[in-house]
Amino acid sequence: MGEGASTAGSATRVAVVGAAGRMGRLVLDCVLDHPSLVLTDAFVRSGSPALGADCATLADRPPCGTPTRTIGHTDADVVIDFSLPAGLAALLDVLDGPALVTGTTGLGPELEARRDAYAERAPVLAAANFSTGVSLLLSLVRTAAAALPHADLEVVEMHHRHKRDAPSGTALALAGAAAAARGVDIAGVVTHGRDGNSEPRPIGQIGIHALRGGDVVGEHTVWLALDGERLQLGHAASDRTTFARGAVRAAAWVAGRAPGRYSMGDVLGLTSS
Ligand code: NAD
Repeated sequence: MGEGASTAGSATRVAVVGAAGRMGRLVLDCVLDHPSLVLTDAFVRSGSPALGADCATLADRPPCGTPTRTIGHTDADVVIDFSLPAGLAALLDVLDGPALVTGTTGLGPELEARRDAYAERAPVLAAANFSTGVSLLLSLVRTAAAALPHADLEVVEMHHRHKRDAPSGTALALAGAAAAARGVDIAGVVTHGRDGNSEPRPIGQIGIHALRGGDVVGEHTVWLALDGERLQLGHAASDRTTFARGAVRAAAWVAGRAPGRYSMGDVLGLTSS
């Protein structure tokens, strides 16, 4: 697959949502550095101290002449969203055609359905984790879960103390990928943060466990435990710039494509479609 669908020869216009956040600032920096992307809008929440600031200064760069504003209409070709569920909901209220790259997690079924409905009108690439390593880990977990259908599978994740949603979207994606590879519905087999005196572990159960503390950027381990041996597949992010770079790469790739859902696997050539 090519690196950009429709914008050869002209710059792809990008808007960033959640621009004052940890991820948003890094995304701004990557967009401003990118040779074929041009930043047109940066959205922050109403009441943000960063509202009206020159957006480049949020990335510790010299002013670029674009002040931040609250979410509204954009002429961008692609919108990159790293905000909170309320930010994505507000964005979906106004979005009318641009491609959407979103990394916001903790959405809930209703907001997921709204995001997926937007994919009927525009290309949408949603990923709980934009790192190259986790995209590959998803593929490895699918293979291992199917190859070892009776292994006890547990997902353990750790993130910094500021993270709001638990478990992480990446942990849910890993568990969901394992369940799908085994041909079962994750809702029927998952258990969260095991506790108390209950029955022994049921065959086929998938456990998810969330640790929170310090400044951990994001670590995920998938355990497949058998009698006499266990397999661990894991990923550790040491710098969240890896997520920003992945999202910006995805934005350059997805702009101008046909409406529908796309994945980081598509961007990285890890899927067969
Ligand atoms: P953060 O709290 O630092 O930033 C979120 C920003 O969104 C804040 O500045 C907040 O003011 C802003 N926001 C909230 N509501 C808004 C609205 N209505 N309009 C505009 N802006 C609004 O959080 P973060 O660490 O940057 O993470 C943001 C999201 O991205 C979280 O859901 C996190 O789990 C997710 N995340 C995803 C990946 C990935 O690779 N997919 C990686 C890291 C974080």
